Amino acid sequence: MKRVILFGAPGAGKGTQADALQKEFGYTKISTGDLIRAEFVAGTTLGAQMEAMISRGEFVPDTIIMEMLSKRLQQSDVTTGYILDGFPRTLAQGKALNAIVADDEIAFYLKIGNEDIVVKRVLARLTCSTCGAIYRSTVVPPNERACAVCDGVAKPRTDDTETVVRKRVGIYRKETKPVIQYYRNEKELHEINGAQGINEVFQAIKGVLN
Ligand code: AMP
Repeated sequence: MKRVILFGAPGAGKGTQADALQKEFGYTKISTGDLIRAEFVAGTTLGAQMEAMISRGEFVPDTIIMEMLSKRLQQSDVTTGYILDGFPRTLAQGKALNAIVADDEIAFYLKIGNEDIVVKRVLARLTCSTCGAIYRSTVVPPNERACAVCDGVAKPRTDDTETVVRKRVGIYRKETKPVIQYYRNEKELHEINGAQGINEVFQAIKGVLN
């Protein structure tokens, strides 16, 4: 079973690339953000608590994330391989992932040096609240549209506001950069220029995976 990991700041293109890789290679995309959002769409108490954390731009605690991920990895669609989008986000998550065996693991870091590019991208983004598909709009704020993948509606996420995104970038620098450094030192990490177009980034990742 192959495991592909996508690192990068909010708006770096992890979700978009995970969708494209899923289509191309047949690996299953697992986004911890999508797992969290599915929980609050389902209306559970835990879902409501996590929605409050997310809308403030805060991370969900590692124990809850690990529990959701372990449960997701028990499903049969991960047996050929899976792509992790938005996980691991802390050093503790990176270490916990070590204990989950994969035949082959490869990580990519979609790098974007400029925070304003990240903010601009996130503000122009629409996400399907049913399946998590991501769309880019040319207008900000973007107008809602029908999802092309399922029968859901794509709209801006409640945490995709400028204030919350800047806060998320700050937390990303503090909490996620150390786990990227850990992968750089101890594992196979490929650094890709995430400021390129979607297709250029995809070709760069594909070139490594093929
Ligand atoms: P994403 O869809 O990956 O942008 O995630 C949306 C939000 O969910 C993040 O800003 C965090 O608040 C939370 N989240 C997603 N994945 C994780 C994770 N691995 N660890 C902690 N919080 C997470």
